Amino acid sequence: MLFLALSIMKESIPEAVSWCVAHGAVYALPKDDAAKLGDTYEASGAFAHAPFALAPFAWPRSEYDKVVGLQPTLSRVIDRVSRDHDWLETTLKETITSDDFTAKVYDVYKSAPNPQELRLGLLRSDYMLDEKDEPRSLQVEINTIASSFGCLSQTISQLHNFLAAKRGGGELPKNQAGRGLAKGIAAAHKAYGSKDAKVVMLVQPGERNQMDQRKLEHFLWDDHSIPLERLTLEDVAKRGTIVDGALVVDGYEVSVVYFRAGYSPDDYPTDKEWDARSLIERSLAVKCPSAAYQLAGTKKVQQALAAPGALERFLRDDDASSPRELRQVFAGLYDLDEAAPNADAAVAEALAAPDAFVLKPQREGGGNNLYGSDIVDALTSMTPAQRSAFILMERIVSKPKTGALVRNGHATEGDCVAELGIYGAFLANDKGELHNEVCGHLLRQKLLGTNEGGVAAGFAVLSSPALV
Ligand code: ADP
Ligand code: MG
Repeated sequence: MLFLALSIMKESIPEAVSWCVAHGAVYALPKDDAAKLGDTYEASGAFAHAPFALAPFAWPRSEYDKVVGLQPTLSRVIDRVSRDHDWLETTLKETITSDDFTAKVYDVYKSAPNPQELRLGLLRSDYMLDEKDEPRSLQVEINTIASSFGCLSQTISQLHNFLAAKRGGGELPKNQAGRGLAKGIAAAHKAYGSKDAKVVMLVQPGERNQMDQRKLEHFLWDDHSIPLERLTLEDVAKRGTIVDGALVVDGYEVSVVYFRAGYSPDDYPTDKEWDARSLIERSLAVKCPSAAYQLAGTKKVQQALAAPGALERFLRDDDASSPRELRQVFAGLYDLDEAAPNADAAVAEALAAPDAFVLKPQREGGGNNLYGSDIVDALTSMTPAQRSAFILMERIVSKPKTGALVRNGHATEGDCVAELGIYGAFLANDKGELHNEVCGHLLRQKLLGTNEGGVAAGFAVLSSPALV
């Protein structure tokens, strides 16, 4: 499959699209299109295939194995960071004075103490291949909130296997990402231990990527017989309360609150949504993530963990991977805090060669980073205090490979680069680790020259890695 001509691959489009629809690799139509059909965002029927690549994307097997191997330790590091109050406070000190959103999450963390000792992380660590010299994986970021596409990527792996069986192709690694994430939620629900409780998935109103979420709900039901309700933060504000410590909505107890919303300032249009966030945090429900986990997933924490000696604080000799091994996948990351001794030097370097860097604010969900001349504009116009809301990162440069991306049933061929995400599911309580698994992967493929990488944001398509 990998090396077939595009003309042959294009013959596969009808059967590939049918596979996607039949197996639920679909996106809800944009709101306006759905409205024309008389549909609301939660109604069924208004779906079309998710954007996908016609063939898998070649990825070095050794690099794939390496990042899979690092995941259990990375998941532990995130958990330990989330429990290290002094380190979080020091690390985020300037960030929360310059960035309102991080300050709000920090405020929930401080003022609504989480009484639940169970900690659930459904994480995704994202990598690109840096090919400035010898190819090597460099971490783009690690997601601790709303790590999406586990279910759709599992389906796209199946699609590529199906097409490869018919047309020939290389070996695709097993991918049970969606099922594995559901298993993590089920482990937390069981550890919570209340028979009649339900899981709540917090969603954004009008979510187009809702089938990825619904498939997770279906795995939770099919594999574990656990019911899940979809609610918005506004729903929780209106209908949620705390009874004897437990979160109760519409009369049922909530075991786990799984966030697929709440990562962006847009998710909190009024104080009501922040009140709902605090209510959840103060309750006994297991939060995925807690405010502490969300803070542990900020770009600022990523940069701080890459500083010399920082990882040593969070790793022990019996962890599977060493600080040195983890640091191998860290790109150059530069501290822009006012108090940082090297901030001015990093800024000078970025101004001299902006294309070698990415400037990142504390945001999730794609479309927020600055590149090229926008970096120069930003760095020359911001005060040092404003600058500390950002981190500066080495730009990862991948060699493009030809690929065909299918949107709305039509293929576009071009030079592509890719980003590999590894999912980890982690559960622990005060006595220790209960669950730490690598569930699967996501490969997003995009045309060269597209700076951002999100599928939901329209930049990339779903694909899968072919190990070479
Ligand atoms: P977000 O939280 O918005 O997903 P990311 O750090 O993942 O933020 O950045 C968004 C996208 O920008 C990535 O998917 C990737 O395509 C691109 N990107 C981010 N960091 C780099 C980098 N250091 N080098 C090259 N591209 C990057
Ligand atoms: Mg990202």
